[in-house]
Amino acid sequence: MINDNIPQGCSIKKPLIIYSYKPIRTKFGIPLKSADHLKKKLIEERGQICEYCKQNVPYPTSLDLEHNIPVYVGGHGYNEQNLFLICKKCHDNKTALDRRAIFIMKQIGIIIPGGFGSILSFYNLKEVQIKFLEIRQSIKEIDLKKEIYKLGENGKDYKIVYQESNKL
Ligand SMILES: [Zn+2]
Repeated sequence: MINDNIPQGCSIKKPLIIYSYKPIRTKFGIPLKSADHLKKKLIEERGQICEYCKQNVPYPTSLDLEHNIPVYVGGHGYNEQNLFLICKKCHDNKTALDRRAIFIMKQIGIIIPGGFGSILSFYNLKEVQIKFLEIRQSIKEIDLKKEIYKLGENGKDYKIVYQESNKL
């Protein structure tokens, strides 16, 4: 059934497993002790500061280790280049954004939920990650446009266009 949905221009005939849930993993994808160790190391190197909003935080526990590319779409679990130290508020926003991007990826069939907690794709891992970053960026841009619209200037323009169109 899945094989009927191969996207056009895709050379992979069988979906690849890009993520597979293993019960022994922690939320960071590595045993808990190593996650703590890694967080400590990164705080020493990068400071006790949120890498997104640049605010200082009072305690190390106020910072979370966060995956830039989520493990769910094949992001590396403990490669330091894929990890950021961020505050709880930024983490919540980032998680919400990632979830929306992943939802869209499922809707358009870039990733397909598999059995036993695995995620499949007809695209290779690198392509999946590039598409994920593109979709996430688009969501950010749409959000920003909405924000500008709410602030008024574009809202006014829209009203004028709307009134003009009523005259036709
Ligand atoms: Zn922050």
